[in-house]
Amino acid sequence: MDNKVLIFSAPSGSGKSTIVNHILGVYPDSMEFSVSATSRPPRGEEVHGREYYFMSPEEFRKLIDEDKFVEFEEVYEGRFYGTLKSECERIWAAGHVIIFDVDVKGGVNLKKYFGKAALSIFIQAPSVEVLRDRLIKRGTDSPEAIEERVAKAGEEMAYAPQFDYVLVNDDLSTAFAESEKVVEDFLDDGRLNYSTFI
Ligand code: ADP
Ligand code: 5GP
Repeated sequence: MDNKVLIFSAPSGSGKSTIVNHILGVYPDSMEFSVSATSRPPRGEEVHGREYYFMSPEEFRKLIDEDKFVEFEEVYEGRFYGTLKSECERIWAAGHVIIFDVDVKGGVNLKKYFGKAALSIFIQAPSVEVLRDRLIKRGTDSPEAIEERVAKAGEEMAYAPQFDYVLVNDDLSTAFAESEKVVEDFLDDGRLNYSTFI
């Protein structure tokens, strides 16, 4: 199963992290989450090196100049997020499948970069109202940040057709089962069904 990658992208609040964590729990010994670098500050219980490699915007820009990223995006103003080449090398060296949780543009770029080795999945909430409601209930963002994320969701939805698979996350146990099936098919060489053969 080595040298394969799973890419999960979605508008914030769709349930991407919930589904990614579920898949990681199904494959605890053969998959590893790619820890991104970010210039945003830690939130809640987040730990450096576990959720993200946290750094200042200056440190982030230095790594851009040194060509250390597979891809990076300024997802929100002044807030950079990026996939480090060193992180991919580390996970593949361990013989593990890489699992990415990135924004929609990052997801499209990673799919182009990894081609047939990648399965890209777009997670979609049933509606914008449900998405806002989930962000409010999650309780990790200010009301302003929630509105910023919801406003961005509309334009992010337009990227869905560029993904190998679109998964609507309505009932959570149904979404878990669907994600397991799609991933299992891909790892069993189901990529022949899903890949767009870039
Ligand atoms: P994302 O990573 O896409 O921003 P999260 O995984 O953090 O989203 O999910 C946003 C919130 O919605 C979390 O509080 C999560 O527990 C909840 N959630 C996720 N999926 C569902 C679902 N199918 N039904 C109800 N709540 C959900
Ligand atoms: P959050 O601040 O909620 O952790 O993440 C905001 C957004 O940035 C999410 O959509 C998340 O998937 C995305 N993101 C996290 N890491 C990366 C990355 O390495 N590259 C890109 N392009 N987006 C990322």
